[in-house]
Amino acid sequence: MSRYWSDLVSDLSPYVAGEQPKIADLLKLNTNENPYGPSPKAIEAIRAAAGDRLKLYPDNESIALRDAIARLYGLDRNQVFVGNGSDEVLAHVFNGLFRHEGRSLWLPDITYSFYRSFCALFRIPVQLVPLADDYALNPADYTGPHAKPPAGIIFSNPNAPTGIAISLSDVESIARANPDTPVVVDEAYVDFGCESSVSLLKTCPNLVVVHTLSKSRSLAGLRVGYAMASPEIVEGLVRVKDSFNSYPLDTLAQAGAIAAIEDTDYFNQTCQAVVATRETLTHNLTALGFEVLPSKTNFVFARHPRHDAADLSRALRDQRILVRHFRQPRIDQFLRITVGTPDDCARLCKVLSGIVK
Ligand SMILES: *Cc1c(COP(=O)(O)O)cnc(C)c1O
Repeated sequence: MSRYWSDLVSDLSPYVAGEQPKIADLLKLNTNENPYGPSPKAIEAIRAAAGDRLKLYPDNESIALRDAIARLYGLDRNQVFVGNGSDEVLAHVFNGLFRHEGRSLWLPDITYSFYRSFCALFRIPVQLVPLADDYALNPADYTGPHAKPPAGIIFSNPNAPTGIAISLSDVESIARANPDTPVVVDEAYVDFGCESSVSLLKTCPNLVVVHTLSKSRSLAGLRVGYAMASPEIVEGLVRVKDSFNSYPLDTLAQAGAIAAIEDTDYFNQTCQAVVATRETLTHNLTALGFEVLPSKTNFVFARHPRHDAADLSRALRDQRILVRHFRQPRIDQFLRITVGTPDDCARLCKVLSGIVK
């Protein structure tokens, strides 16, 4: 506490990121980074852009990058909004779309915890909608008649940290049942086995689909994310962005992101490798007695009937393997484990089998 802080600051509940310790031979399976690294073409493009041109400000509209994203999904440039990581895109979404006097934002009780941090920052009232007992999101919980329309609806699909996805038709039913409400689908993990809701933009003008290059494109360090929505919604986000930071994406990030998005072969190969390893990992964890939720992401969410999750997490750390454990009601017996390379997962399962035997 400090008397120099704004009133707001003491009420914040900042997001806690997974740790990034510098320990030799550490196996990091705690922040859902992609083990295969970025496309070599992205690295090449960043190198090529690292020159005298850096004396100039970057393109504040990120035209070439937005065009590359628009081409990928068959959209117009004015339906694409880019930002410094999808966390920043989400911040502008919360600030620009969810602040409606006297109305609450609806979100699952178990989802990406940053949403609650943004609600505190932007003073948005929250209406938590519990997931079902099996941790599935029930669309009917969002489609009933509301006394007041929600200020917004947001969820990740596939959800984090459960890994469970809902279908396109379920997303559509939520968007259509709430025509006066922005419905935001955070598709951070969609490339690992799900279909994007982006095709619904044609019929759902209230839908916002958010993507990141941090996971499936393996560029967490470059900080690039984007939202796809109607031109009207994108214009609103641009107004917020240009009242905050006109240049969220530097020249290197724009160059690297374009090359990564255009390297379809590398993208397909690495995503398929992650999905194949996820299936093997799920099988091997199940054989060790874990219950593993059905994942469509690059992580699995698993619990063991006879071993406390906090103990397991500590025991793994003692053997230089990091996984994520959330001290949160309903999920405090689960571990969230990022899908690494086949070798990473073999090392994890070997150590785990020693612990749970
Ligand atoms: C990783 C993640 C993000 C953040 O992505 P960045 O682009 O790295 O900011 C957003 N939403 C979910 C659900 C995530 O898991």
